[in-house]
Amino acid sequence: MVQRFKPICSNHLQDRQDILTYFYICLNKKRNTMKAMVLTGIRQMEMRDIPDPELVNSNDVKIKMSVVGICGSDIHYYTQGQIGSQKVQFPFSVGHEGAGVVVQVGNAVKRVKPGDNIAIEPAMPCWECDQCLAGRHHTCRKLRFLGCPGQAEGCLMEYIVIPEKSCFPLTGNLTTDHGSISEPLSIGVYAVKKSECTKTLNIGIFGYGPIGMSVMLAAKEQGVDNIYVTDIIDERLTIARKEGAYITGNPSGENIVEKIRQKEPLGLDLAFECCGKQEAFDQAIELLKPGGRILVVGIPEFDKWSMNVESTRRNEISVQFIRRQVDCVEQTLNLMNDGSISIDNMVTHRFPFAKTKDAFDLVAGYRDGVMKAMIDF
Ligand SMILES: [Zn+2]
Ligand SMILES: [Zn+2]
Repeated sequence: MVQRFKPICSNHLQDRQDILTYFYICLNKKRNTMKAMVLTGIRQMEMRDIPDPELVNSNDVKIKMSVVGICGSDIHYYTQGQIGSQKVQFPFSVGHEGAGVVVQVGNAVKRVKPGDNIAIEPAMPCWECDQCLAGRHHTCRKLRFLGCPGQAEGCLMEYIVIPEKSCFPLTGNLTTDHGSISEPLSIGVYAVKKSECTKTLNIGIFGYGPIGMSVMLAAKEQGVDNIYVTDIIDERLTIARKEGAYITGNPSGENIVEKIRQKEPLGLDLAFECCGKQEAFDQAIELLKPGGRILVVGIPEFDKWSMNVESTRRNEISVQFIRRQVDCVEQTLNLMNDGSISIDNMVTHRFPFAKTKDAFDLVAGYRDGVMKAMIDF
């Protein structure tokens, strides 16, 4: 005889759901939650409770975030939802300029221990592909980068888990601010290294946000004196003069090509495009001497650069694009630790974690002479 189950009455269903809810709460109690700031749409973000991350691999390190710097690339994702083909799937957390304290380590971790303050290298390469094996792990084929859509969530959250190789202990005079700033600053150090610049060269920095400033600090550290800086924000030019720029100019109010050419009639040896603007690129090309080089560090909001055939061809200009940096974090931390580079003029604004949106709006609007805004946890 086929036994038929009695249909469950609504009362029973209620009981069952209660039991399920009870177990759900118990499970959630075991798995703690934490606060994360997530982008939820264009110019939209909110604080959400998400599960606390757990160690997965034996070389994993769990970090409690102390500070995160806001990067121009974070702002691109906030205002445009994408950089080129890298599109945000909302909700998504950005942030990759972080420093924090180690709270838990996997069995195989040797380099750091709980309680250590560390700088975070946001790039997590595979260490196995042709690029990694060639020492180009910044262009790894399977790169995972914090806060990069389709790769890894960012660090604008209370805790993150990253591999040991992404942890750089902060020792000596180094604070968590140094740790966070080491990310953009190492890009300047790398760009200057790639430029092969020497003391006697004259260089132009077109765009003086945190990346332009990082190039300046790295070039100064190399002993370069003849540095020309342009930006459309006067407060930034004031900082550039404090850092030792020879001549500064604001292209929205003056003809900077003429101004710089008056001082350097033969032209510039090297130019660094650090704002991702076609005008800045064109001005740099126009100012380079024959045989000059331009390094393009800025991230544009458009898809194609254009360049003047006549001046680039006749002057045999070299163009070098820069993709973040490779192997420069440790050197950058050392330069700050021994006082060769000071970041005293870099951080202009600070916000508590809960006010992250205010910080993004300020940076996106280039308001209040902002250079680098930091989020404190
Ligand atoms: Zn950055
Ligand atoms: Zn790789």
